[in-house]
Amino acid sequence: MIVSLPPDLIAKFEKALSRAGPREIGGVLVGEHVADAEFRIVDISVQHSGGTVSCFVRKPEKHKGFIKRFFRRTGADYTRFNYLGEWHSHPLYLPVPSAVDFAQMQQIVEDGPNAPLFAVLLIVRLGEHKRIDFGAMAFTKGSAPTPVQIRVSERPDCDPTLPNRLIAWRWKRPGWWPSSDVNRSEA
Ligand SMILES: [Zn+2]
Repeated sequence: MIVSLPPDLIAKFEKALSRAGPREIGGVLVGEHVADAEFRIVDISVQHSGGTVSCFVRKPEKHKGFIKRFFRRTGADYTRFNYLGEWHSHPLYLPVPSAVDFAQMQQIVEDGPNAPLFAVLLIVRLGEHKRIDFGAMAFTKGSAPTPVQIRVSERPDCDPTLPNRLIAWRWKRPGWWPSSDVNRSEA
């Protein structure tokens, strides 16, 4: 499986990891299904609380709004835009899953009828020269995890998953505005 990551999210990881220092932080990944075994991460949520130097506990209620807003702005097109998985940092360890990470991810994909078909675990750390190191695995129900190749690539032009930060409003004269031909001398 190939998962791509845009440079703006790498910058977001770098900023969040610098701020967190030696504490683990994490969150949720949402993505787009691009091709057969290819996905792109389009956004991440960041939970700064709940982590220690060797452990991160994600609190689902802190990410519900993030996922809901993502589904809303992508038109609830779940086959194309969906939850992609989890991420957390390993500030003091290599970006490879721990035994606890393996168990937790397997639980996510085995968790009853509403479980996702698969989930990616992305582990990040600030390496040498404050550069981000990645490690990722994909988990599916009833089978062994498989490695994920992370590729950095730019977002497509006019990325439909981005929130509308800027809307070019056009001025329109309101109905109550006096038009220029009003003869003010009559008033
Ligand atoms: Zn971990």
